[in-house]
Amino acid sequence: MYGDDIASVLITQEEIAGKTKELAELIAKRYPADAPEGDLLLVGVLKGAIFFMTDLAKALPIPTQMEFMAVSSYGSSTSSSGVVRIMKDLDKDIAGRNVLIVEDIIDSGLTLSWLKRNLSTRNPASLEVVTLLRKPDALRTHVDVAHVGFDIPNEFVVGYGLDYAERYRDLPYIGTLDPKVYS
Ligand code: 5GP
Repeated sequence: MYGDDIASVLITQEEIAGKTKELAELIAKRYPADAPEGDLLLVGVLKGAIFFMTDLAKALPIPTQMEFMAVSSYGSSTSSSGVVRIMKDLDKDIAGRNVLIVEDIIDSGLTLSWLKRNLSTRNPASLEVVTLLRKPDALRTHVDVAHVGFDIPNEFVVGYGLDYAERYRDLPYIGTLDPKVYS
């Protein structure tokens, strides 16, 4: 539907669905359904993580609640600087809760590292991360990520929530963008 803007499909809709189910089973093992900390709190990072977050919540066999944050990272449209500003904060206090940050993609890891530090000052009972995608550079940063869906090459990807200039989020798969779109 975007003409020939998409150069290749990196991860299909079926592969995403299969991986989401796998991750949900692993995550559910870590949190008892009747934990004294209450329901697992999924914290999604707007807007990219929305598709993954809702599919993951549906696949999880334990009760979950959802909160969203929007952060803006200063930098160019395709790389982040690690200087982060909160555009929308959580609506609820997370003290004493089991919190799982749900990310779409970790590239340099700077955004996530900032977010983890910020949320940990709010005294959650536990704070872990699940990301659908991870790029090679993320391995060089020391951010502990409990669950990773796919390790992908160092290419700019779109679809399944991920955008370029707000477009392509609605694609049901993850694809690479034809370089002509940037120029
Ligand atoms: P980091 O701070 O880990 O370098 O960057 C994380 C953020 O950069 C992601 O949440 C996402 O918004 C954006 N980002 C990094 N790589 C890509 C990519 O390949 N495609 C898209 N659409 N966004 C990306």
